[in-house]
Amino acid sequence: MTRSNTQNQYDVIIVGSGTCGATIARELCRQNRRVLLLERGETTPLKETLSGSMSIMDEVSVGGKLKDLRAITTGGSSALYFGVAALPPFDTFSSLGIDLANDYQEIQKELPLTYLPDETYGPQALKLRDSANELGYSWEKQLMLVDSSKCQSGYSYESKWKAKSYVEDAINDGATLVNKAEVTKILFDKNKAIGVEYKLKEGRFKCTVTKVYGEKIVLAAGVHASPMILKDSGVKNVANHGFYIDPNRAYFGLVPGLNSKDNFVGTMQTHLEEDIVLGDANVQKIFYRFLMISMFKLRHFFSFSNNIGIGVKVQEPMGGKLLENGQYHKVLGEEVYRKFDKAEKAATEILKNAGAKHIFKTPLSATSVGGVLRINEHVDTNLQTDFENLYVCDSSILPDTFRNPPTLTLVCLAKYLARHLITLN
Ligand SMILES: Cc1cc2nc3c(=O)[nH]c(=O)nc-3n(C[C@H](O)[C@H](O)[C@H](O)COP(=O)(O)OP(=O)(O)OC[C@H]3O[C@@H](n4cnc5c(N)ncnc54)[C@H](O)[C@@H]3O)c2cc1C
Repeated sequence: MTRSNTQNQYDVIIVGSGTCGATIARELCRQNRRVLLLERGETTPLKETLSGSMSIMDEVSVGGKLKDLRAITTGGSSALYFGVAALPPFDTFSSLGIDLANDYQEIQKELPLTYLPDETYGPQALKLRDSANELGYSWEKQLMLVDSSKCQSGYSYESKWKAKSYVEDAINDGATLVNKAEVTKILFDKNKAIGVEYKLKEGRFKCTVTKVYGEKIVLAAGVHASPMILKDSGVKNVANHGFYIDPNRAYFGLVPGLNSKDNFVGTMQTHLEEDIVLGDANVQKIFYRFLMISMFKLRHFFSFSNNIGIGVKVQEPMGGKLLENGQYHKVLGEEVYRKFDKAEKAATEILKNAGAKHIFKTPLSATSVGGVLRINEHVDTNLQTDFENLYVCDSSILPDTFRNPPTLTLVCLAKYLARHLITLN
């Protein structure tokens, strides 16, 4: 490993180019700030092929066999997400001293937000809805981050909003993006953050360590990286209240003659109880095949056109610890399994009523890790840490009571922070 030093000076260095990092960069560059985006992944053409998805997908253990998923690439996890949107918890943020109303108003003008018309759904999603409704569940459409003009004949990956487009806007307005740059450390002068150190991957085995300096540093590397960088920078109370992972699983069955096709996942759902959600798990063919082969479900693998799927997500209490190796560790309590038992009855009832046979369930996985850092404890209302000029803006600071799809909220928070940074210099 060789060591080099650059004298670059930026107004703002942003670590991670995902949902938050991309939005902050775009906002700052519009106001002519010198922005450096350091991104661990590569910039790849985003295509929903098996090889394309596998090359950016990263499974992270959150305890035993429980795994969370993220994407390591320019644009972050939005390259893999489903595009389901939920309104930000305005009251929660307001009680913490953060007003997101103006940012949300702006976002409504900029992002494609829509309820999809029935014609966009696959027959399996409509069958699931009809079956749920017949049984008395109110199966409701969710707001989507989708440009409906790009999916008139059904599901299209291109129609989903992705943070990569915001990175491109930022670059057009002058941002510098460095790919394959993994930030490992914050550089300090006493209690002030002055830069970062990162490993730049060159080829398969070589990497150089580089230091770069900026007026402000924003950690936006996602919940599996920013808290660890903070911890490695000497912050002692990271994850001191634990975190949530909200486990989920899906149930798949086969309905002969269904003619299933690619479909927007998660577009409809119902609450069985306040903390148990049942929803549409009708994934696109490519992910369906990948899932089935990974579980050796050959009958299902060869029957995509007959497949129907329902997902179950259960809220679970805060807890668990952040291990020394930087991984989260959570053991699910008995109560969580009791909730899954209850949800399973409803999920299989809906599938059977839809005519499904050969029903099986997937192993549990994490929906997302959240509640790791607290506003007014780990960061202040300007999202600044105890270190001057060091900010965190990504899913690590989502409040522990907010368990909905977070992308809209994160874009709001990123705009909120960018507005603050613009007033400073
Ligand atoms: C399969 C899947 C489906 C989802 N579906 C939905 C959905 O329907 N609706 C919804 O709202 N949300 C959904 N999500 C969640 C959503 O995508 C994430 O919550 C959101 O993207 C998080 O934004 P972020 O900015 O915190 O992190 P990310 O978008 O993950 O960005 C973090 C970035 O930092 C980079 N990085 C990591 N470590 C370093 C480092 N050390 N140095 C430099 N760069 C680094 C990463 O490569 C990445 O680009 C889904 C997620 C997945 C995986």
